Amino acid sequence: MLPAPFLHRLEQALGKDKLSTDPATCLVYGYDHSRRQSLPAAVAFPASHEDTLALVRVCREFRIPLTARGRATNTTGAAVPPEGGVAASFERMQRIAAIDPDNRLAVVEPGVLNGDLQQTLREHGFFWAPDPSSSPFCTVGGNLACNAAGPRAVKYGSCRENTLGLHAVAGTGEDFRCGVRTTKGATGYDLTRLLIGSEGTLALITEATLKLTPSPSAVRTLRATYRDVGTAARAVARIMAQPVTPCALEFMDRTALDLARRQAGDVVPEAGAMLMIEVDGEPGALADAADAVSRAARGEGLLALHTASDRDQARALWAARKALSPAQRSLSPHKINEDVVVPVSRLPELVADIERLARVHDLPIVSFGHAGNGNLHVNLLPRDETERERATACLDALFERVIALQGTLSGEHGIGLAKRAFMSRALEPATLSLMHGIKQCFDPDGILNPGKLLP
Ligand SMILES: Cc1cc2nc3c(=O)[nH]c(=O)nc-3n(C[C@H](O)[C@H](O)[C@H](O)COP(=O)(O)OP(=O)(O)OC[C@H]3O[C@@H](n4cnc5c(N)ncnc54)[C@H](O)[C@@H]3O)c2cc1C
Repeated sequence: MLPAPFLHRLEQALGKDKLSTDPATCLVYGYDHSRRQSLPAAVAFPASHEDTLALVRVCREFRIPLTARGRATNTTGAAVPPEGGVAASFERMQRIAAIDPDNRLAVVEPGVLNGDLQQTLREHGFFWAPDPSSSPFCTVGGNLACNAAGPRAVKYGSCRENTLGLHAVAGTGEDFRCGVRTTKGATGYDLTRLLIGSEGTLALITEATLKLTPSPSAVRTLRATYRDVGTAARAVARIMAQPVTPCALEFMDRTALDLARRQAGDVVPEAGAMLMIEVDGEPGALADAADAVSRAARGEGLLALHTASDRDQARALWAARKALSPAQRSLSPHKINEDVVVPVSRLPELVADIERLARVHDLPIVSFGHAGNGNLHVNLLPRDETERERATACLDALFERVIALQGTLSGEHGIGLAKRAFMSRALEPATLSLMHGIKQCFDPDGILNPGKLLP
């Protein structure tokens, strides 16, 4: 229950139509794709920067928890409000305020869907590099808060490399701009990069200036199949060690291929592992680029190397890859979806470790993902209560190995509630202490997304 004076003040600040305490509405805004759930006591629908500012100020005055929300597609519980309070949905802030091709930037509100933005940019000959598989359903605000990425990150980077500046409201109730509208900038601390990946725990983002990239004129898709995951992982390291950077380098293990075949049929081959490799650029340079990555892809364990014969075949392969995430729910409603990262050269060791962990803990594990970044989605698929218990132990061992391989807990999904307990293993005490200091500075009363990220 929220105090009546608080609700009264909030209603005055936002207007009745931007606030709901209806239990049915609260139910809808209390869960996310992690399948965790916790009810907010109210849902706010800010429609502008000024609304967001008023919302944070009133919440701070009454010390009420405030959890920002895009479209709740995150997998870590980051948008669930475990302490109740107010959920702030940015679905009424979907304006693309400017597209500026001369300066290669776009200015957008946080509720714009990634897919809608990409479609609009396409008409101008540009794209924004972060391209999560959930692109049609997730928001730019959520992308920024999680430092989301996708297949293209191997060449073009994640949100951090593709955002110039932000307008935001800190947990103190102060609004501020950070970053630049230029392609260079050396003016003080980089608060833009700090806010990106902070999961709504430091400030609410109300506007973002995004760095655009011109769309490549042509793309070529290659498919390499391997005897086993080890030989495929060694091919990834070879591809990344040569000068042509692919614009996608995706990995699927045998179980992922079997699942994908159920979705897409025979276009997905039978093999121990598969790499999907894309190169992009000007049509004249594409053949040489494809040759360079093909040379690197060849080696021990290669079964076949094909260039997608046409756009339809390439599209079908991508559709199968993108359908993998939801398809796993058919194997296990309790899937544990990790997105660990290791240095690319350690990928062969990681895939060997994952195979060993699946055997030792006797669990189905599906691995696929952005191998060019050393980023694997390791999906543990327990089918009953005993397997769930084994999955917990297996997860612990997985993180242990990833850290030993000089990797990190998350490449793009973030920490949320799910991985918070492991943060003190991944980061040194001094680093964590500085992070707590930053949190204190931006949000001294701890009202923004409490219970997340920091242990
Ligand atoms: C099928 C599927 C495929 C996926 N594929 C990928 C992938 O390829 N790559 C990838 O990176 N992720 C992927 N994801 C995860 C997810 O889509 C991303 O994390 C996405 O960025 C979340 O966006 P959202 O709008 O749903 O945000 P939400 O889930 O609603 O929120 C995520 C976080 O952002 C915060 N937040 C939201 N808006 C703001 C704001 N305005 N200011 C401050 N904080 C805010 C929330 O508090 C929360 O901490 C996938 C998810 C699914 C379900």
